[in-house]
Formats: sequence, structure tokens, C-alpha cells
Amino acid sequence: MDKEKLKTIKRPISSVARPVKGEAGKTGNWRSLRPVLIAEKCIMVKKGEMSCLRCWLYCPEACISKTIPPKHDYEYCKGCGICAEECPAKAIVMEEEAKYREEEK
Ligand code: SF4
Ligand code: SF4
Repeated sequence: MDKEKLKTIKRPISSVARPVKGEAGKTGNWRSLRPVLIAEKCIMVKKGEMSCLRCWLYCPEACISKTIPPKHDYEYCKGCGICAEECPAKAIVMEEEAKYREEEK
């Protein structure tokens, strides 16, 4: 962006992205790995209060709920594994999607 255009922007520039659920379409049908929450390990569940939410913050598809416990929306989750990577309590594990597809049949 050129300097003149930058001067016309009134709001402060931030690197924080706010994705909207479904922007990339329904990604759940091509996911190969599924994030699964181990609720008893989640910091929010343990504390019983809104406290961590790193999974919610870092999910690029905005498909984790801001609830206790956080819930994944598997219709829009693409299985990138960022939530599992960012979880400080290792409360999210990535499992083979095929296992669940068999169970859901
Ligand atoms: S794997 Fe986690 S971070 Fe990636 S899209 Fe699914 S819920 Fe979001
Ligand atoms: S990042 Fe992990 S510990 Fe934090 S709210 Fe999400 S699942 Fe719970």
C-alpha cells in the first residue's frame, strides 16, 4: 500500500486477523486430521472460568467456540492442527479423521 493511502486510514493498523466462520467454505469434508479436546486437561475446564482461549484465538477458521469447554465445529475445521500446537496444556490432540468417518457411517 502506498504512503498516501496509509495516511487516510483512521484506525490503528493491527496484525490481528478476525476470520469469520465459513469464509473458506465447509472444509470438514476434506480434513484428514481431527482435533479432539481432552476436556480434563483444558485450563478453562480446570479453573471453571474463561481464562486461556488460545485455541479460540489462533484458529484461522474461527471454528472453536468461546465456551467452557471450547468446542470444535467440525463442519468448518480444516484440521490444520494450530489449536493443538498452541494449546499450552496439550489438551487438544490430532487424530486420524478416517477413524471418525468409519464411526459415523
Ligand atoms: S485444526 Fe484447530 S485451528 Fe485448525 S481449523 Fe480446526 S479447530 Fe481451527
Ligand atoms: S488452548 Fe487448550 S487449555 Fe486453552 S482453552 Fe484451548 S483447549 Fe483449553
